[in-house]
Amino acid sequence: MAERVRIREVGMRDGLQSVSDIVPTETKLAWLDAEYAAGVRDIEVSSFVPPKLLPQLADAEQLVRHALTRTGLVVSALIPNSRGAERGLALGVHEMNFVLSVSEGHNKSNVRRSTDESIEDFRRVVQLCHEHAEDHRPRINCGLATAFGCTIEGDVDEDRVRRIANEVAEAGADGIALADTVGYGQPAAIGRVFRKVIADVAPVPVWAHFHDTRGLGLANALAAYEAGCRGFDASLGGLGGCPYAPGASGNIVLEDTVFMFEAMGCDTGIDIEKLAAPRAILHAALPNAALYGAIAKAGLPRNFHPEARAA
Ligand code: ZN
Repeated sequence: MAERVRIREVGMRDGLQSVSDIVPTETKLAWLDAEYAAGVRDIEVSSFVPPKLLPQLADAEQLVRHALTRTGLVVSALIPNSRGAERGLALGVHEMNFVLSVSEGHNKSNVRRSTDESIEDFRRVVQLCHEHAEDHRPRINCGLATAFGCTIEGDVDEDRVRRIANEVAEAGADGIALADTVGYGQPAAIGRVFRKVIADVAPVPVWAHFHDTRGLGLANALAAYEAGCRGFDASLGGLGGCPYAPGASGNIVLEDTVFMFEAMGCDTGIDIEKLAAPRAILHAALPNAALYGAIAKAGLPRNFHPEARAA
C-alpha cells in the first residue's frame, strides 16, 4: 500500500490575500472545480476575516457554499477569532484553521495580544465548536505561525514551539500546523521539531505549512515527511508572497509538491497533468502575478509513475 499524503490547496486564502488584484468569484469557483476534477480533496477556500480588511476574500460565504456541494472535498477556512468561527459554524465548513504566532513579537504586531492570550482565544473557539454535536461540528485546527523563525525576533526557540503545540493539543485541537510563515526554516530544524511535536501530540495530526521564500520549501517538506508528517499545505503555482519580503514567492508549489510525493511512490490522489487546467484559469485571471513551479516549465519526466493513475 502506498503511503497516503494529503496536500491542501491554500492559494485561495494564503495566495490571494497577498495579491492586491481581486479575482472574480466565478473565477475562483472555476479554479476550485478544476482542482477538484484533478483529485484535490483538501482546500482552504477562504478566510473569515472582516471583508473590509481583505476585500479579496469578501466572497468567503459563496465559495464555502459551492465547495460544500463537492462530494468528498474537505472544505476548510481560516478563522481569525470567535466571530470568524461563528461564520464557519453557521455555514457548516468541515475544518476551521485558527492561527497564532509562536513569536511573541509577531503575534503582538499581528493581533495586538500576547501568544498566551491567543491560546486563550483558541480555547474559547474550541469551546464554541464543542457546543455543537460531536458528529456535526467542524474540526478545529491550530496553526502555529513563525514556528521556524520570525522577521521581528529572528530565532524562535524550538522548545517554545513544542510547549505551545502541547498546549493547543491539550486545549482540544483536532489538528496542528507548524508554519514556516516567512521562509526561515531549514531541513535539519524542520526534522527536529516535527519529530518531537508529532511524538508529543499523537494521535493529533501535524501538518506542514511552508513558504518557499528562500527556495527550501520542498527540502523542508521532505524533512517533515521523514519526521512523520503526512499533511502539506501548498498553493497552485506557488501563488502568493511574503509580506516581509517583497517579490518573494509564496507557499510551496502545489504541482511540484504532488510531483515529489507521487514520484516517491506516495499516493496524493491528485493527477498532476490535470493541474494544468486550474493553472491556466489562475494565469488568465491574474496575468501579472508570478506563478512558479518546475513541473509546469519542464514537464513530467518519462520515468514518472504516479500513484494516482494506477489507482
Ligand atoms: Zn502562509
